[in-house]
Amino acid sequence: MKFYTQQYAIPDVPMQAFIDSEEIWDIIKNTSTSPEKVLEVIQKALNKNRLSLQEVAVLINANDTASVNAIKEGAKELKNKVYGNRIVLFAPLYIGNKCSNNCSYCGFRSTNTEAERKTLSDLEITHEIEALQENGQKRLVLVYGEHREYSPEYIAHTVKVAYIVKKNSGEIRRVNINAAPLDIEGFRIVKEAGIGTYQIFQETYHPEAYKWYHLGGKKSNFENRLTALDRAQEAGIDDVGIGVLFGLYDWRFEVMALVRHTNHLEACYNVGPHTISFPRIKDAAGWEVGDKYFVSDADFTKLIAILRLAVPYTGMILTAREPAKLRDEIIQFGVSQIDGGTKIEIGSYSDTLNLKQNLNREQFKINDERSLAEIIDELLDKEMIPSFCTACYRKGRTGEHFMEFSVPGFIKKFCTPNAILTLVEYIEDYAIPSTAQKAWQIIEKNINEMEDDKIKSSLIEKIEKVKMGQRDLYY
Ligand code: SAM
Ligand code: SF4
Repeated sequence: MKFYTQQYAIPDVPMQAFIDSEEIWDIIKNTSTSPEKVLEVIQKALNKNRLSLQEVAVLINANDTASVNAIKEGAKELKNKVYGNRIVLFAPLYIGNKCSNNCSYCGFRSTNTEAERKTLSDLEITHEIEALQENGQKRLVLVYGEHREYSPEYIAHTVKVAYIVKKNSGEIRRVNINAAPLDIEGFRIVKEAGIGTYQIFQETYHPEAYKWYHLGGKKSNFENRLTALDRAQEAGIDDVGIGVLFGLYDWRFEVMALVRHTNHLEACYNVGPHTISFPRIKDAAGWEVGDKYFVSDADFTKLIAILRLAVPYTGMILTAREPAKLRDEIIQFGVSQIDGGTKIEIGSYSDTLNLKQNLNREQFKINDERSLAEIIDELLDKEMIPSFCTACYRKGRTGEHFMEFSVPGFIKKFCTPNAILTLVEYIEDYAIPSTAQKAWQIIEKNINEMEDDKIKSSLIEKIEKVKMGQRDLYY
């Protein structure tokens, strides 16, 4: 099953041509919108069709309150339809902040002489992972600067360490990567280590704007970064994540470009991005980015809702860069994954004495400092199911990662039961009694609502097994 817009399905398009900034601006400027057109486009997305760039522009250009509310409501409905009420949880783990690039927005940039540089040793990685496991984490994204020390072999090695560490009943079941672009051979090496998603954010898809911020090092090469995920695909990595650092250029252009990149991946490889990330720029040590392209909370919410509608099958990640209150609000408009208990100072998960953020030791400031336990408790208050599920990846249901979206009943058959099973593990191994009580109520409610008796009785059986001490059961 493919979901790409035919007008861009040109597999032999030259690489550098797949982002044509003039074309994108032309579409934004020449596409008219109206409340009626907005409703039509939303309906198309609700019928699970991918939107064309012109249709995305209809949503981007809609500014009247009723249309913006309709976009948000549409995204909410689509999210519930596609993903149900579960939210997947993960944590970032910064492995090293050495970096030879000079990205003006980043605390790790080479010219920041105040930065305290560090790469975790294997023992330190082990301690970090043990600390994460003690909180109940099962899914990580490992993060690295771009530096000769962080070779594909080194990245692969750290991934293997992450999988090996097991403290008590803890284990990491999925290790994603956020690192610099590699060559095809490099991608092959990290693939063999068993990575989940390989994330690379383009930061800005506008070639001129890209030059303003990327002042030195390999990352100043726009095309090398833009084509990274093509090389990943060549190397057999079909599970990739794209993203934009919002605040570097006009958000309307960036949303169109994210959809354009999605079209390109679909057209060339029959598989779009597994995830889309939308970090919004935050304070960093010696931060040198002006506020010309600052994205307001209202526009941020709108753009997330538009992305949800435009690419209904993709996972959408909202991180602890954003404050708790805003995350709680925005989550409903299409987000499917969040991080919890996040610390981004190198070595800070195991350093229980160091509680205050120090910008010289981190890439940027995070604004949601809630623990994983607090986040889980609050998700339960909203009747959401916190999930640590890794089943699809481990059952080989990846290439067709449209499944949640395209296979009828997929959520009911796999996602909800798997989310519940990981929540039961969390209750048994980590939850405080009040959280456990709330979680059991949510589980009971969800089981009662299940229509398929076979799934229901099989799930109840598995829950009993988890209560008896079995772990890692999934469908
Ligand atoms: N060094 C690798 C690279 O640049 O691809 C890893 C990326 S970095 C560790 C993860 C992401 O954080 C970047 O791609 C960027 O989008 C984001 N980031 C960097 N500085 C930021 C800031 N000041 N505020 C928010 N996000 C930031
Ligand atoms: Fe280095 Fe990445 Fe920071 Fe750029 S964004 S300075 S590449 S760590």
